[in-house]
Amino acid sequence: MSKIAVYPGSFDPITTGHLDIIERISNIFDHVIVLVAESNQKDYLFTANERAEFLKKITKDNPKVEVDIFKGLTVEYMKKRKAHVIVRGLRAVADFEYEGTLASMNKRLAPEIETFMIFSRPEYYFISSRAVKEVARHGGELKGLVPEFIIPELTKKLRG
Ligand code: ADP
Repeated sequence: MSKIAVYPGSFDPITTGHLDIIERISNIFDHVIVLVAESNQKDYLFTANERAEFLKKITKDNPKVEVDIFKGLTVEYMKKRKAHVIVRGLRAVADFEYEGTLASMNKRLAPEIETFMIFSRPEYYFISSRAVKEVARHGGELKGLVPEFIIPELTKKLRG
């Protein structure tokens, strides 16, 4: 049976931390679906289509990676795609709390699905989309925090 992993998130926008997780899990699983969340509850900077296009562009040379957009519960998407592993990344202790409750809820909703946690590389552990947007808003150096082509996209959105 081929092992399909789903890596869900906002990716608003993709950072070098996300990219590293995608590369590392594509060495472990047969197929990786990076799932862009679309939700009415969240205020995104980039539309779901923009976020997905950025991900497609940066993963285009990795044949194991697919990018999709979904509005709804991750576990419902998983069932539709017959996938059994959700991948999430861990940085600081604060992530542990949030990810722990999320994994428990998903386990309750779909006991057959496992959550697979992967630790951030130390050099990426402080990188988040939220922090990147804050740096961009104030004109700080973004090199190394996001893929190079994202920098002008952030500048365009935030600074006009
Ligand atoms: P969400 O809004 O669903 O938390 P994010 O796009 O912020 O989505 O993150 C998706 C997943 O990637 C989460 O599990 C998050 O903890 C993880 N992640 C984000 N940044 C990093 C990083 N620098 N290193 C490792 N994991 C990360």
